[in-house]
Amino acid sequence: MFSNSLIELDRAHLVHPVASYRGHERTGVRVLRSAKGATVTDAAGRELLDGFAGLWCVNAGYGHDSIVEAAARQMRELPYATAYFGLGSEPAIRLAAALAERAPGDLNHVYFTLGGSDAVDTTVRLIRNYQTVRGKPEKDQFISLEQGYHGSSTVGAGLTALPAFHANFGLPFAWQHKIPSPYPYRNPAGSDLEAIIAASLAALRAKVEELGPERVAAFYAEPIQGSGGVIVPPRGWMKAMRDLCAELDILFVADEVITGFGRTGPLFACTEDEVVPDLMTTAKGLTSGYVPMGAVFLSNRIYDTIADGAGEAAIGHGYTYSAHPVSAAVGLEVLRLYENGLLENGRRAGTRLQAGLQSLADHPLVGDVRGRGLLAALELVVDKARKAPLPAAADPARRIFDRAWNNGLVIRAFGNGILGYAPPLCCTEAEIDAIVERTRRILDQTL
Ligand code: PLP
Repeated sequence: MFSNSLIELDRAHLVHPVASYRGHERTGVRVLRSAKGATVTDAAGRELLDGFAGLWCVNAGYGHDSIVEAAARQMRELPYATAYFGLGSEPAIRLAAALAERAPGDLNHVYFTLGGSDAVDTTVRLIRNYQTVRGKPEKDQFISLEQGYHGSSTVGAGLTALPAFHANFGLPFAWQHKIPSPYPYRNPAGSDLEAIIAASLAALRAKVEELGPERVAAFYAEPIQGSGGVIVPPRGWMKAMRDLCAELDILFVADEVITGFGRTGPLFACTEDEVVPDLMTTAKGLTSGYVPMGAVFLSNRIYDTIADGAGEAAIGHGYTYSAHPVSAAVGLEVLRLYENGLLENGRRAGTRLQAGLQSLADHPLVGDVRGRGLLAALELVVDKARKAPLPAAADPARRIFDRAWNNGLVIRAFGNGILGYAPPLCCTEAEIDAIVERTRRILDQTL
């Protein structure tokens, strides 16, 4: 039962990620107690539609007994096996093989992590290793996008461009560089999609020129920038950037931690743009949030170069919980569910969500509606012509989040008045319609 003592215990002891510690002490915790399908129930017994799949991760939806059974079975049989020193477990091997089979191009080698941040960290270390053993150790500069998010580890947070992840942390490092986000709604190159692609290509070329082409190791991009505000680059943008990276001898890393596993329709979003990255990071939907796990995909060339570079020596990169058998067993069952109806349902639900949110485009507060599949955003403005954002002093994120909650809807409210959506793939038509209707109510109450 919801109790004041739980709130007090939380206030006194639990440090919350990406929160104002003092602000949280004032407002107190909202405790969730249970969940089923796309519905979460709070400690007071109120049901809410989870329009954000936890933290864009519970792609399969809540309460799948078969996932629970897969985890329980694995825990009974073999709750832990290290993948160090050439040891292993059956589910980890089978999951790596299943993922490689479905991954774009020759991304045939899978390195398991605990989540997205350490997946990004892993890419940085492996890329440094790759560039060194191929005889280019001076390639040690990394480029990513403004508004990009690549996690919260020491290295990944530096590739991340969101200000809160830098303030007072002394980041990013001198070897981490940014170029502007394509951001169609607010691009200085205007809204012409070809011009936006051309501007990004020019910006990458200029940055590489500035750093010295022989110094640049890799470029990182999310197929859709999630935490930056669900920014959808023009079609063809990723392919153009990928091709330029190949031309400039820079590795292209697709960070699919949010976009992977059906969020935008297919299993991996980069396949929609016919892009085969050199490395790809995933997490979240890989286990649908039931247990932690991430996966880094390496192309044959990257893997073989690193392998040959070390020869018989061990490559010193690993985590105790890499390739955890319980997470892998969950991953296999989640993948089975995706391919037995969930991806298909997600695609239908995604089309309905995009159409539903588009129907709000003429609302006086809505400046932009964007997204793909079950990943979407509304960008609110106080003046559509000038695209003037909601005043930050009014704390739109907190107010909109609270308003959504009071209307029985969980969404992501970004600080700059952007509403983010990432509902589970299991959503019914009625649930998608309810997300849209509740959003209309929230907008009317925000006027
Ligand atoms: N990369 C992207 C694109 C993400 O969206 C996230 C998390 O939201 C991460 C990396 C970090 O993942 P995690 O929170 O699992 O460490």
